[in-house]
Amino acid sequence: MKNPVTAYIGLGSNLANPAEQIKAARAAIADIAGVQELAFSSVYRSPPMGPQDQPDYVNAVMAIATELPPIDLLRCLQQIENEQGRVRKAERWGARTLDLDVLIYGGQEINLPDLIVPHTGLAERAFVLYPLFEIAPQLIVPGKGAIAALLADCPRNGLERLN
Ligand code: ATP
Ligand code: CA
Ligand code: CA
Ligand code: CA
Repeated sequence: MKNPVTAYIGLGSNLANPAEQIKAARAAIADIAGVQELAFSSVYRSPPMGPQDQPDYVNAVMAIATELPPIDLLRCLQQIENEQGRVRKAERWGARTLDLDVLIYGGQEINLPDLIVPHTGLAERAFVLYPLFEIAPQLIVPGKGAIAALLADCPRNGLERLN
Protein backbone atom coordinates (compact mmCIF):
# COMPACT_ATOMS: atom_id res chain seq x y z
CA MET A 1 0.00 0.00 0.00
CA LYS A 2 1.44 3.39 -0.90
CA ASN A 3 1.18 6.29 1.58
CA PRO A 4 -1.34 4.59 3.85
CA VAL A 5 -3.31 6.75 6.28
CA THR A 6 -4.61 5.40 9.59
CA ALA A 7 -8.35 5.92 9.89
CA TYR A 8 -10.96 4.87 12.46
CA ILE A 9 -14.43 3.64 11.59
CA GLY A 10 -17.37 3.54 14.02
CA LEU A 11 -19.73 0.58 13.53
CA GLY A 12 -23.27 0.40 14.92
CA SER A 13 -26.33 -1.82 14.47
CA ASN A 14 -29.63 -2.40 16.25
CA LEU A 15 -31.62 -4.55 13.81
CA ALA A 16 -31.48 -8.04 12.28
CA ASN A 17 -28.94 -9.66 14.64
CA PRO A 18 -26.69 -6.68 15.40
CA ALA A 19 -23.66 -8.73 16.51
CA GLU A 20 -23.69 -10.58 13.17
CA GLN A 21 -24.13 -7.29 11.27
CA ILE A 22 -21.00 -5.92 12.98
CA LYS A 23 -19.05 -9.09 12.22
CA ALA A 24 -20.09 -9.05 8.55
CA ALA A 25 -19.27 -5.34 8.26
CA ARG A 26 -15.80 -5.90 9.71
CA ALA A 27 -15.09 -8.51 7.04
CA ALA A 28 -16.55 -6.32 4.28
CA ILE A 29 -14.44 -3.31 5.33
CA ALA A 30 -11.26 -5.40 5.43
CA ASP A 31 -12.22 -6.65 1.96
CA ILE A 32 -12.25 -3.17 0.38
CA ALA A 33 -9.34 -2.74 -2.07
CA GLY A 34 -7.00 -0.18 -0.54
CA VAL A 35 -8.06 -0.93 3.04
CA GLN A 36 -6.40 -3.18 5.63
CA GLU A 37 -7.57 -3.88 9.17
CA LEU A 38 -5.15 -2.74 11.87
CA ALA A 39 -7.23 -3.31 15.01
CA PHE A 40 -10.77 -4.02 16.17
CA SER A 41 -12.23 -3.11 19.55
CA SER A 42 -14.37 -5.18 21.85
CA VAL A 43 -18.06 -5.14 21.04
CA TYR A 44 -20.29 -2.96 23.24
CA ARG A 45 -23.99 -2.53 23.91
CA SER A 46 -25.44 0.98 24.25
CA PRO A 47 -28.91 2.45 24.78
CA PRO A 48 -30.28 4.23 21.67
CA MET A 49 -29.64 7.94 21.07
CA GLY A 50 -32.67 10.00 20.08
CA PRO A 51 -35.88 7.97 19.61
CA GLN A 52 -36.11 5.57 22.58
CA ASP A 53 -38.67 3.18 21.00
CA GLN A 54 -35.96 1.08 19.32
CA PRO A 55 -33.63 -1.73 20.42
CA ASP A 56 -30.24 -1.17 22.08
CA TYR A 57 -27.27 -0.80 19.74
CA VAL A 58 -24.22 -2.97 19.32
CA ASN A 59 -21.13 -0.81 18.66
CA ALA A 60 -17.44 -1.26 17.89
CA VAL A 61 -14.54 0.72 16.42
CA MET A 62 -12.12 -0.48 13.76
CA ALA A 63 -8.69 0.94 12.91
CA ILE A 64 -7.66 0.65 9.28
CA ALA A 65 -4.76 1.55 7.04
CA THR A 66 -6.06 2.99 3.80
CA GLU A 67 -4.84 4.54 0.59
CA LEU A 68 -8.36 5.65 -0.39
CA PRO A 69 -9.15 9.36 -0.31
CA PRO A 70 -11.66 10.13 2.48
CA ILE A 71 -14.68 10.62 0.21
CA ASP A 72 -13.97 7.32 -1.59
CA LEU A 73 -13.74 5.58 1.78
CA LEU A 74 -17.13 7.07 2.76
CA ARG A 75 -18.72 5.84 -0.49
CA CYS A 76 -17.37 2.32 0.08
CA LEU A 77 -18.77 2.32 3.63
CA GLN A 78 -22.17 3.54 2.40
CA GLN A 79 -22.20 0.73 -0.16
CA ILE A 80 -21.61 -1.79 2.62
CA GLU A 81 -24.46 -0.23 4.64
CA ASN A 82 -26.73 -0.63 1.63
CA GLU A 83 -25.60 -4.21 0.98
CA GLN A 84 -26.45 -5.05 4.59
CA GLY A 85 -29.98 -3.83 4.12
CA ARG A 86 -29.84 -0.30 5.48
CA VAL A 87 -33.04 1.57 4.71
CA ARG A 88 -32.77 5.37 4.98
CA LYS A 89 -35.75 6.95 6.73
CA ALA A 90 -36.65 10.54 7.50
CA GLU A 91 -36.37 9.99 11.26
CA ARG A 92 -33.00 11.08 12.67
CA TRP A 93 -31.12 8.36 14.59
CA GLY A 94 -33.79 5.74 13.87
CA ALA A 95 -33.19 1.98 13.96
CA ARG A 96 -30.83 0.56 11.30
CA THR A 97 -29.15 -2.68 10.35
CA LEU A 98 -25.79 -0.95 9.95
CA ASP A 99 -24.22 2.46 10.45
CA LEU A 100 -20.61 3.08 9.45
CA ASP A 101 -19.10 6.46 10.32
CA VAL A 102 -15.64 7.81 9.46
CA LEU A 103 -14.50 8.91 12.92
CA ILE A 104 -10.94 9.97 12.14
CA TYR A 105 -8.87 10.12 8.96
CA GLY A 106 -5.19 10.57 9.82
CA GLY A 107 -4.50 14.02 11.22
CA GLN A 108 -6.98 15.65 8.86
CA GLU A 109 -9.87 17.96 9.58
CA ILE A 110 -12.36 17.68 6.72
CA ASN A 111 -15.40 19.88 6.12
CA LEU A 112 -17.15 18.77 2.93
CA PRO A 113 -20.93 18.83 2.37
CA ASP A 114 -21.07 15.02 2.77
CA LEU A 115 -18.16 14.42 5.12
CA ILE A 116 -17.12 16.05 8.37
CA VAL A 117 -14.05 14.55 10.07
CA PRO A 118 -13.39 14.10 12.96
CA HIS A 119 -17.00 12.92 13.21
CA THR A 120 -19.18 15.60 14.85
CA GLY A 121 -20.52 13.38 17.65
CA LEU A 122 -17.20 11.80 18.56
CA ALA A 123 -16.33 13.79 21.69
CA GLU A 124 -19.77 13.36 23.33
CA ARG A 125 -20.50 9.72 22.56
CA ALA A 126 -19.50 7.03 25.04
CA PHE A 127 -20.14 4.28 22.45
CA VAL A 128 -17.46 5.88 20.25
CA LEU A 129 -14.91 7.07 22.84
CA TYR A 130 -14.66 3.88 24.93
CA PRO A 131 -13.99 1.46 22.05
CA LEU A 132 -11.73 4.01 20.35
CA PHE A 133 -9.68 4.44 23.53
CA GLU A 134 -9.38 0.66 23.82
CA ILE A 135 -7.53 0.37 20.48
CA ALA A 136 -5.82 3.83 20.40
CA PRO A 137 -5.18 5.04 23.96
CA GLN A 138 -2.53 7.55 22.81
CA LEU A 139 -4.64 9.05 20.02
CA ILE A 140 -4.85 12.81 19.57
CA VAL A 141 -8.19 13.66 17.98
CA PRO A 142 -7.52 16.44 15.44
CA GLY A 143 -8.97 19.71 16.72
CA LYS A 144 -10.24 18.08 19.93
CA GLY A 145 -7.21 16.85 21.88
CA ALA A 146 -6.14 13.66 23.63
CA ILE A 147 -8.61 10.78 23.62
CA ALA A 148 -7.86 10.14 27.31
CA ALA A 149 -9.02 13.67 28.19
CA LEU A 150 -12.20 13.35 26.09
CA LEU A 151 -12.97 10.02 27.75
CA ALA A 152 -12.45 11.45 31.23
CA ASP A 153 -15.23 13.98 30.50
CA CYS A 154 -17.66 11.42 29.05
CA PRO A 155 -19.95 9.36 31.33
CA ARG A 156 -20.56 5.77 30.19
CA ASN A 157 -24.28 6.51 29.65
CA GLY A 158 -25.23 2.85 30.06
CA LEU A 159 -22.50 1.54 27.75
CA GLU A 160 -21.57 -2.10 28.47
CA ARG A 161 -18.71 -4.14 27.05
CA LEU A 162 -19.92 -7.49 25.66
CA ASN A 163 -16.73 -9.47 24.96
P1 ATP B 1 -24.65 10.80 13.13
O1 ATP B 1 -23.84 11.31 11.96
O2 ATP B 1 -25.06 11.89 14.10
O3 ATP B 1 -23.98 9.65 13.84
P2 ATP B 1 -26.21 9.04 11.54
O4 ATP B 1 -24.97 8.22 11.51
O5 ATP B 1 -27.48 8.37 11.94
O6 ATP B 1 -26.01 10.28 12.53
P3 ATP B 1 -26.59 9.02 8.73
O7 ATP B 1 -28.03 9.09 8.36
O8 ATP B 1 -25.93 7.68 8.76
O9 ATP B 1 -26.41 9.75 10.15
O10 ATP B 1 -25.72 9.94 7.76
C1 ATP B 1 -26.14 11.21 7.37
C2 ATP B 1 -25.05 11.85 6.52
O11 ATP B 1 -23.90 12.14 7.29
C3 ATP B 1 -24.51 11.00 5.40
O12 ATP B 1 -25.25 11.16 4.24
C4 ATP B 1 -23.06 11.49 5.23
O13 ATP B 1 -22.86 12.18 4.01
C5 ATP B 1 -22.90 12.47 6.36
N1 ATP B 1 -21.60 12.45 7.04
C6 ATP B 1 -20.89 13.57 7.39
N2 ATP B 1 -19.76 13.26 8.00
C7 ATP B 1 -19.70 11.90 8.06
C8 ATP B 1 -18.74 10.99 8.59
N3 ATP B 1 -17.64 11.43 9.19
N4 ATP B 1 -19.00 9.66 8.48
C9 ATP B 1 -20.14 9.23 7.88
N5 ATP B 1 -21.09 10.04 7.35
C10 ATP B 1 -20.87 11.37 7.45
CA1 CA C 1 -8.52 -4.94 1.75
CA1 CA D 1 -23.72 7.47 13.33
CA1 CA E 1 -23.81 7.41 9.67
